[in-house]
Amino acid sequence: MFTDEFGSNVFNDSVMKKYLMPDTFAKLENIRNEGAPMEQAIAEEIAQAMMKWAIDKGATHYTHWFQPMTGITAEKHDSFLSMDHEFKPILEFSSKALIKGEADASSFPSGGMRATFEGRGYTVWDPTSDAFIKDGTLCIPTAFCSYTGAVLDKKTPLLRSMVVLNRQAKRVLKLLGEEVKYVYPTVGCEQEYFLVNKSDYAKREDLVLTGRTLFGSLTPKGQLLGTHYYGSIRSRVKAFMAELDEELWKLGIYSKTEHNEAAPCQHEMACIFNKANVAADQNQLVMEVMRTVANRHDFVCILHEKPFAGINGSGKHNNWAIASDTGENLLKPGKEPENNIRFLMFMTAVIKAVDDYQDLLRISSATASNDYRLGGNEAPPAILSVFLGTDLEELVKSIIDGTSIKKSKTEYSYLADNLPGLMQDKTDRNRTSPFAFTGNRFEFRMPGSSVNVSCANFILNTAVAESLRLFADELEKADAGRVEEAAKELIRRELTEHKRIIFNGNGYEDLWVEEAEKRGLMNFASTPDAYRHYDDEKNIRLMEVNGVLSAEEIRSRKSIGLTEYVQLMNIEIKTMLEMIDKQIIPAVIGYAGKLAGGINQRKAAGFTAEKETELLGRIEEEYETLSKYRDLMEEAFNAEPGGMQEAGDYIYETIKPYMNECRKAADRLETMTDKKDWPFPDYTDILFYV
Ligand code: ADP
Ligand code: MG
Repeated sequence: MFTDEFGSNVFNDSVMKKYLMPDTFAKLENIRNEGAPMEQAIAEEIAQAMMKWAIDKGATHYTHWFQPMTGITAEKHDSFLSMDHEFKPILEFSSKALIKGEADASSFPSGGMRATFEGRGYTVWDPTSDAFIKDGTLCIPTAFCSYTGAVLDKKTPLLRSMVVLNRQAKRVLKLLGEEVKYVYPTVGCEQEYFLVNKSDYAKREDLVLTGRTLFGSLTPKGQLLGTHYYGSIRSRVKAFMAELDEELWKLGIYSKTEHNEAAPCQHEMACIFNKANVAADQNQLVMEVMRTVANRHDFVCILHEKPFAGINGSGKHNNWAIASDTGENLLKPGKEPENNIRFLMFMTAVIKAVDDYQDLLRISSATASNDYRLGGNEAPPAILSVFLGTDLEELVKSIIDGTSIKKSKTEYSYLADNLPGLMQDKTDRNRTSPFAFTGNRFEFRMPGSSVNVSCANFILNTAVAESLRLFADELEKADAGRVEEAAKELIRRELTEHKRIIFNGNGYEDLWVEEAEKRGLMNFASTPDAYRHYDDEKNIRLMEVNGVLSAEEIRSRKSIGLTEYVQLMNIEIKTMLEMIDKQIIPAVIGYAGKLAGGINQRKAAGFTAEKETELLGRIEEEYETLSKYRDLMEEAFNAEPGGMQEAGDYIYETIKPYMNECRKAADRLETMTDKKDWPFPDYTDILFYV
């Protein structure tokens, strides 16, 4: 059975039960779920058990596995090998090595929080996420901070946000008469990606250096026929998916759903949801394993948000809910949501959080690569709004207006007498909404396919915790017998105050942009535009009050995000210039020369060569256009200002329009040039391989 292999490379509960004393395991459970302090003796026993298990599994090394601000995971391997006093080899691993590691922090982004000479950084074990074996190395999930304890990673704020969400949710539940041991956010990621042939990829400098194609005219087919979405899967891709599943299952990751996506060569996989921090760690692993397995199948897995212009890009839907220790989902409306105060309270907390912190949620999805996707009529617009579905929207309306709701009956539909009846879902889906309620969870659809989801989730958790904190503060003041009544009043008031964020219509329409502006919603078209607001006073207050990030840590994140934008865009600009100069222009000159030669021969033979001359004329014209914009782009690039905010704004406003013009001219030249003379594989070659 394939389930025997499931989790075989993970130091999970069942392994721990085998390798640890029952008492130690129980204590670890308390540490993990309720934040009890870690005792030295417990850590020592776990360290010894971990090493024994890892060595039994053939591992020779261990590493602290962490998530610096680069967005990818980092490792530094040490072997278990040591030497005793007689110079003989022994195997060694201690609680000290388990709990704390030292990593050179100077090569990781710190956003100015650390001077270059202060190289020391620490990694700290996260006991809430299971250790695992990857390529013969025991990987221990850790947080990463500077010598002075400043946060330098993506994991720490997520863990902190889970602590505050737990604290505030428990306060609210207690007021509603429910005592639970703990509460945690659940996250399930849907991961989109492209698979292309390694040989095509290697021939495209833009794909290799920037992860996306900077040139390429749309193929005649594009995704017009819609034959790829949910279509049958190519056998090579099927083999890739099968191996991916196997590898992920061994790592204890519940890879569940796989299908073709809308664009040719695009696919999606989804795992079963988990605790937010575990889901975030696992998604990092999913992306890594995807790349490795693709390589074994002569593919390259592209995680960029918009690798090809004109066809759909890739996102990472972040499904989010809150559960209590019994596994009960607090966002489940139940049969009578109108009488389910707990549900209404939590739903209202989320609506308020999204409205109050639209900017932070937008920032959590802001990257240079996601800018090509958001608002492109395929992904949600860059404006935050919440979709509730017809029934819930009716309910919210009735609460605000103080009227009673009309209950819709459960409808069955029958396609044919000999087919089973279908119970209609309570609400249809709205693919255009960035933040949609989907029955028992919210689906945040802005994050791009390549991001670490910790960011979106720490912001979401903290913003919701803040709503709950304010709710609890207020309800604690109500007289004992009046809490429910006070809660109803609070829900009504908050829904009224935040109803502007609720939108059930089509988010792709231009009308929505106008409407959103009337409602006073934020609309940040670009990454630098969004990042400008990271350290707005209200955002600093949110993070500080809840103990998630300090003002200094927020500013460092702002600086890192903007720097990353500027650096990635500069790489795109330089790659564009290089491809124009070294590949496209020589190819066009070569082909135009051949064409001119042909025209002369024909004229010598007594023909007018009218059409050929006309074609050559068009090529010359486009070539001039390309050269003009290429020079303007280079000039603008050389004049880029120094500060990161200024540089980011300048790139978006001034250089990007030139990049677009260069691309358009080059793409038109591509359509006029002999395919044999074009210097790299085109969209048809890449997307419609057999
Ligand atoms: P769809 O494409 O219809 O949105 P998928 O099945 O592709 O659905 O993905 C749904 C995702 O939502 C899965 O990762 C699933 O585990 C996750 N999910 C389901 N329930 C919850 C929940 N309570 N909390 C968080 N995620 C959830
Ligand atoms: Mg989805």
